[in-house]
Amino acid sequence: LLFAYEPAKRLARLQISLEGAMVNARMIYEILDEEPDQPDLSGDQVLEVKDAEIRFEDVSFSYGEASPVLHNVSFVAEGGKMTALVGPSGAGKSTIMSLLPRFYDPDGGRILIDGQDVSKTTKDSLRHAIAYVSQQPYLFEGTIRDNIRYGRPEATNEEIEEAARLAYAHDFILEQPHGYDTPVGEAGMSLSGGQRQRISIARALIRNAPILLLDEATSALDTESEVLVQKALEQAMSGRTVLVIAHRLSTVAHADKIVVLLEGKVVEQGDHRSLSTMKDGLYARFLKMQDVGKRHAEKELQLLDGG
Ligand code: ATP
Repeated sequence: LLFAYEPAKRLARLQISLEGAMVNARMIYEILDEEPDQPDLSGDQVLEVKDAEIRFEDVSFSYGEASPVLHNVSFVAEGGKMTALVGPSGAGKSTIMSLLPRFYDPDGGRILIDGQDVSKTTKDSLRHAIAYVSQQPYLFEGTIRDNIRYGRPEATNEEIEEAARLAYAHDFILEQPHGYDTPVGEAGMSLSGGQRQRISIARALIRNAPILLLDEATSALDTESEVLVQKALEQAMSGRTVLVIAHRLSTVAHADKIVVLLEGKVVEQGDHRSLSTMKDGLYARFLKMQDVGKRHAEKELQLLDGG
């Protein structure tokens, strides 16, 4: 199986480099990758996940020699709950996400999962605990089945089908010319945006990881697709610790905790209720737009995070 899997992986990389959007693509294939970019240190421990609580403690970070993009970021994403990151473009939301699977290590502070410093755990055990759903559904060269299996190469066909059912993808997959064995790139085969998204959600689901990183899509799909994608996401989020870069008012309003970022600093955190009543708060300011109408509020949130 590994042998057959290797060339597909290479193809996947080729396609990604052609598509650009490097940071997100890196998240996808490196989380899926079995071999970490840098070898573990000899003292590194295997991560043992219990509640999957994520804790950022005074985390500071800069990309190379550039000026810092995160300044003493502290927050707790409670196990099994949803924590939303909001803030204007460049505030550091994606950077926070990419520190968790250790694409980079902080310059200062610590990131803990269930009390274990991620910089002292093996990358393999750390990344096994994490699934990622990006804004852009990345489909790799290969069949629909291959695309779901990327989430966990050793998955059986039954497990692949189960993940597809949970992601509301099973029915439309069966309608394809060769069902699960239909190549995603086959001429004439057109998957809608929502269908592609549900395949990528099935890929995340099959990992059965306790932590889900979600970069919410900014652009809306048509209403029917939207409902199914939302249901699929609910399945993916259920029972997991979710860290979401939120672009929608409905998502933040339902989050257990909202962390508001501005220029690499946490400026507010709390739930929707407490933040919305904060005088002169950044979050409260954007919510005021709600008076003007929900449509405008959605727009304003997107403005707030540059989407
Ligand atoms: P957006 O909503 O636009 O994605 P964000 O809140 O996710 O914004 P980040 O992408 O984390 O913000 O960016 C924070 C800062 O770090 C920005 O100033 C950005 O230009 C910079 N930055 C992000 N990625 C890199 C990188 N790979 N190399 C150098 N600088 C980067």
